[in-house]
Amino acid sequence: MALRLPANAGTSAPSTTTTEVCAVLAIDHANLLYRACSICERSLPDDPSSLCKYCNPSSFDPGSPRSKRLFRLLMSIATDKKVFTVICFDRVARIMFGTSADEFFDFAKLHPFAAAAAARILEGELFRMTLSKPQSGNAQHLRVTSLVPMRSGYQPVIEGLRELYRAKAA
Ligand SMILES: [Zn+2]
Repeated sequence: MALRLPANAGTSAPSTTTTEVCAVLAIDHANLLYRACSICERSLPDDPSSLCKYCNPSSFDPGSPRSKRLFRLLMSIATDKKVFTVICFDRVARIMFGTSADEFFDFAKLHPFAAAAAARILEGELFRMTLSKPQSGNAQHLRVTSLVPMRSGYQPVIEGLRELYRAKAA
């Protein structure tokens, strides 16, 4: 499979954004995801009974849950020059995982070590990452705004996990 690189790779980008090839060194697998309101996506406490204070209860679809899970990954990555920590939100993390945070959460309920195994699968993987400086003053980490796997045989984490647990079950 041919890799499609971003069209702007190598051209000048705004100074707050850089695109570099980065290796994943480690992922904080104890905190891969968080609960969020299914309408406004504000984060919610882990307690399943806590609901969003900002959205009107009548605006939720009665047939569907009022909360969902979203990915938020804290990763240690390395370029050829330095090692640093970046944060990766749901849209980009889905590319790495190949699944939604809700589906990953359900998978991890059946396989309690799935999060640690996912981190191990990603360690050493190379991605071309677009990193941007956080807009809000209190955010401390660079944010991954897009990424492309460098390895042509890259398969999303969930595929690797399914293979791992299939092999163990066999
Ligand atoms: Zn809300």
